[in-house]
This record gives sequence, C-alpha cells and structure tokens, in this order.
Amino acid sequence: MLDADFFRRWMTVTAASVDREAERLTALDSPIGDADHGSNLQRGFAAVRAALEKEPPATPGAVLIQSGRLLISTVGGASGPLYGTLLRRTGKALGDATEVGERELAEALRAGVDAVMQLGGAAAGDKTMVDALLPAVDALGDSFAAARTAAEEGAVATTPLRARKGRASYLGERSVGHQDPGATSAALLIAGLVDAASD
Ligand code: ADP
Ligand code: MG
Ligand code: MG
Repeated sequence: MLDADFFRRWMTVTAASVDREAERLTALDSPIGDADHGSNLQRGFAAVRAALEKEPPATPGAVLIQSGRLLISTVGGASGPLYGTLLRRTGKALGDATEVGERELAEALRAGVDAVMQLGGAAAGDKTMVDALLPAVDALGDSFAAARTAAEEGAVATTPLRARKGRASYLGERSVGHQDPGATSAALLIAGLVDAASD
C-alpha cells in the first residue's frame, strides 16, 4: 500500500530530477517553444518541495491536491495549469484514504490524464505531455517500471510528430524532428514513481 509518505517522496524525487534535467528541458523548449520549460517546472517543484517539508499533508490525496495547486500558482505558461490539473484531479480521485493500492493510483492517474486532455484539448499524437502520460497510465497496471519505460518511449516517439497543440503548433511542419519538452518532463514525473517506491 502507498501512504502519504510515498506521495511526498514522489513529489520530492520529481523535484530533484526536474532540477537535474532543467537545462535539458529548457533546451528542448528552445527550437519549438520559448525556452522556459525547465525553469518553469523548476520553480514550481521547488515550491512543492518547500511546502511539503513545511507542512506535510496527512493523506495521499491531500499531498497531490496541495502540489497541484502550487504548480498552478507558480509555474505559469501552458504546463502549469496542465500539470496542476493532473495532480489535483488525481488527488481528488484518491479521496481521503490514508493508504491506496497501486491499482487505485492507476485509476486515479487515468482520471488526472483525462482532465489534462479535457483542459488542453490534446489527444494522443498531438505532440504534448499526453503522449507520455497516456502510455504510462496504460502500463501502470503492470508495474511502475513498465509505466516509466512507456512514458520514456512515448516522449521519444513525439520527435517525428507535428505539434497540434501548444506553442509548438505555431511552427506547423517545422515542429517535426524535435522531442516535445512537456512529454519529456512527464516521463520524469512517471519515473519518480519508481524512485519513490525504492527509496
Ligand atoms: P509554455 O508553452 O507556455 O511556455 P511550457 O514551456 O512550460 O509552457 O510547457 C510546454 C509544454 O506544455 C509542451 O511541450 C507540451 O507538452 C505541453 N502543452 C502545451 N499545450 C498543451 C495542451 N494543450 N495540452 C497538453 N499539453 C500541452
Ligand atoms: Mg515554454
Ligand atoms: Mg512560456
């Protein structure tokens, strides 16, 4: 079973990997965006980490809802509301249980990804974070490791796609040949599940 501590670790290991990969995320956002994705997420997850240290919420759902709210208020851009919605909706789906199973997490995360798709209007293949999140949710029934692999493969598979949502879509055909920054950061978030479980 996964308790509030697991979810706090998930957020803090994600904050650490976002720190580590911030330059790469911003570099990916340079040719097909405005070169701020790494710094946007770094600012957001730093706020998440600080809040979790100061006042750790007692349930898995509360950890994700608080983290989602902070991402919305600190990240800005397109990715802030989208990641914020992902975590808030996932947290809401977990309710006020003090421990949740992996299957419940998989179902909750599916609700979160649905909410992202509804908010942003992106479908699979539009070259967004959805292209990492959807395969991850599908694989989450197997294991965290399978979800991580699926998310990483989904991120890499955005390279040949033409962007149909977000800033990159303004480039049309010229967005082809570049990996999507948001799909790349979404793979970091999913990879955090593996690290949180093995910590
Ligand atoms: P901004 O484009 O406002 O500078 P970021 O650079 O932080 O925001 O985030 C860009 C990422 O957000 C993209 O790489 C993409 O994955 C994701 N994104 C943008 N628009 C959408 C959308 N409508 N639906 C899903 N994801 C999106
Ligand atoms: Mg950007
Ligand atoms: Mg921006």
